[in-house]
Amino acid sequence: MVTLKGAEVSAKIKEEVQEILGTLSGEAPKLAIIRVGERPDDISYEKGATKKMGNFGLRVQSYVFPADISDTQFKAEFQKINEDPDVTGILMLRPLPKQICEKDIENMIDPEKDLDGISPVNIAKVFAGDRSGFAPCTAEAVMEVLKQNEIEISGKRAVVVGRSMVVGRPLAMLLLKENATVTICHTRTKDLKETCRNAEILCAAAGKAKMLDSEYVGDGAVVIDVGINVDENGKLCGDVDFESLEGHASMATPVPGGVGAVTTAVLAKHLVQAWAKRNN
Ligand code: NDP
Repeated sequence: MVTLKGAEVSAKIKEEVQEILGTLSGEAPKLAIIRVGERPDDISYEKGATKKMGNFGLRVQSYVFPADISDTQFKAEFQKINEDPDVTGILMLRPLPKQICEKDIENMIDPEKDLDGISPVNIAKVFAGDRSGFAPCTAEAVMEVLKQNEIEISGKRAVVVGRSMVVGRPLAMLLLKENATVTICHTRTKDLKETCRNAEILCAAAGKAKMLDSEYVGDGAVVIDVGINVDENGKLCGDVDFESLEGHASMATPVPGGVGAVTTAVLAKHLVQAWAKRNN
């Protein structure tokens, strides 16, 4: 079984980013990371994204607000960042605290700066198969792993476990756009094991530690694990029991070191694409 390493995919995306950057003059594009509160997951994602932007030669600024900021105050601050001409793209860490209406923010964000595909405009484009917008970075990261490793998608049976608007659904649409025959599974799916076993490309985005083992994997399948979970020993793990795949899957992404490493590279790519669009 071949281990599909996120770092290798990320390095290829870096080359693409630098190629686009080479065609641009002036200051590097700037990413605004918006964080409300001190959730450890958010802080860790912010750190990873900040490091990646620096590594790719891009500017980044974090905007941090207290967890108890009011809806009105947050919207006013958000709008300032949204309208700031020095900000090329925005990553808003979610979920936001309950007092803030996230839907309103999704409607407010400038689709041209919406690097993680949360605005209705970008979501509609993903569902319409229109590539001119920004898809959610994680969903696109899965596609990058497949494409950069030259894994055939067209005509393949792809199964996506998970139907969230952040990962499962947009990923299913991106696979469909590439002519895969796509099945989406969720908690009400009756024959999950059989359905997964029939997949030539199996994408796990359920958020359940090691829930898919070799019994869910057909011979020679490509397994992409989006899950980021903590196992019973407090160790980071995916939705897939990676060790059990040997002798079953042909290729698989590990956790950590798989899709997660590619997500921030896609964010960087979206940032330079936003910059290029604005300056063309
Ligand atoms: P959600 O909890 O929003 O969605 C999980 C989905 O999986 C739901 O559609 C749910 O079904 C389905 N599901 C859960 N349990 C089962 C089960 N036992 N059988 C079948 N389907 C199941 O999670 P997200 O989509 O936000 O995230 C999914 C995973 O991806 C998480 O581990 C998260 O940490 C990770 N993630 C990784 C990122 C990365 O960069 N690598 C970025 C974002 C997320 P139903 O709709 O019926 O409830």
